[in-house]
Amino acid sequence: MAYGSLLESGIFDTHAHYDDRRFDEDRYEVLDELFGSGKLYAAVNCGCDVRSSESSLALAQRYERMYCAVGIHPHDAKNADDKAFDAIEAMLAEPKAVALGEIGLDYHYDFSPREVQKEVFERQLCMAERLDVPVVIHDREAHADCVDAVLRHPKVRGVFHSFSGSAETAKILQKAGWYLSFSGPITFKGNVKTVDAALSAYNDRIMVETDCPYLTPVPHRGKRNHSGYISHIIEKIAEIRGESYEFIETLTRENAKRFFGIKE
Ligand SMILES: [Zn+2]
Repeated sequence: MAYGSLLESGIFDTHAHYDDRRFDEDRYEVLDELFGSGKLYAAVNCGCDVRSSESSLALAQRYERMYCAVGIHPHDAKNADDKAFDAIEAMLAEPKAVALGEIGLDYHYDFSPREVQKEVFERQLCMAERLDVPVVIHDREAHADCVDAVLRHPKVRGVFHSFSGSAETAKILQKAGWYLSFSGPITFKGNVKTVDAALSAYNDRIMVETDCPYLTPVPHRGKRNHSGYISHIIEKIAEIRGESYEFIETLTRENAKRFFGIKE
């Protein structure tokens, strides 16, 4: 298996929210610097409702190496009407919109009733199948229902973002062709569960992300997160898997390019 051309380097941040209001003061400075430094190969900005999906698409259209996912997050499921689904579907026709997401279930906050979350999730899984686009899954304290839902759609490909399930769940998902993306919490002290899950990840199914401005990795916890801090996540994965930093950076970048269908 070839891991990219020698000319390429840099990290691929598969999940970010640069449209978040915490970047309102300096969004373009941060991104200009990250892309300008050459350390950031590419990033996918993820939408959570129609408005943030539109902002994500606008960001993706501004930067050559920025892409976006558009979709309705479980938090916003209660507000999703037919118009919202149509708007998401229309955005997916844009070349820079490389995935449907983030979609899924969140039983931690329960901002939308669970039955409504499930309905909106199911409808978007059907959309992904019909349009043949990959999905980005948000699963918070809803592992069993999320896994059930995606396995009911064997033709849908996707990633579990900021994977927080067990090694056992990781195995079930990967066997079905799903990807796992790891974020800041893998660096948190005592997070044995996520370390075990990352150890069980297949070489061709592992990706990394910041979920910035959230989930800042150690040693920057408490600060606003950005794609530059992803090096701490790569370092941690390299350490637990006994690989070099360069190997994990290249592996996760090549996996992300293949997953999102990014050619060059
Ligand atoms: Zn997110």
